[in-house]
Amino acid sequence: MMDKLIDALCLQCGMCCNGVLFADVRPEPGDPSPLFQGNRSRVAQPCPAFNTATCACAIYAERPVRCRKFECRQLLGVRNGTVTIEKALRQIRAARGLAAEVEKLLTELGFNNERLPLSRRFQRCQRAAENGNLPEAQLDQLADLQLAVHQLTGLLTKEFYA
Ligand code: SF4
Ligand code: SF4
Repeated sequence: MMDKLIDALCLQCGMCCNGVLFADVRPEPGDPSPLFQGNRSRVAQPCPAFNTATCACAIYAERPVRCRKFECRQLLGVRNGTVTIEKALRQIRAARGLAAEVEKLLTELGFNNERLPLSRRFQRCQRAAENGNLPEAQLDQLADLQLAVHQLTGLLTKEFYA
């Protein structure tokens, strides 16, 4: 059973499952979660168990140990009474807005592989730029992207990574 705070925050967020906060999910020793069936040593994010339509985990009762253990700063803050739900939801909206901006710019620049985590898509784009493989006409968009990634990383570091 999900608790009420997870209902209130996580179902509006999903950033620890959808490739914004993390690039993959790894098993702890003996992790029985079906996510790792076939002895997989890592599962790339966006997590295949994440349902984008409902913003929920499709295997919640059997999710990996690491998923059970992770609670971001916003969730922890609301749990321990140092952050209000409204404030946490504002941070979530801000971070999701920046992530959507990053995703939009990456897509416009041609890095539209939605199966990759956002950080990897950005790395590929940066590499292409360094190798001179981005058309001159897209350099403004690249600058916008770099700024948005910088802002997103700052916000995630300060307000989300536990
Ligand atoms: S990042 Fe925090 S609020 Fe968002 S889904 Fe994960 S634990 Fe919930
Ligand atoms: S298994 Fe569930 S909780 Fe864990 S990353 Fe995937 S969708 Fe999120």
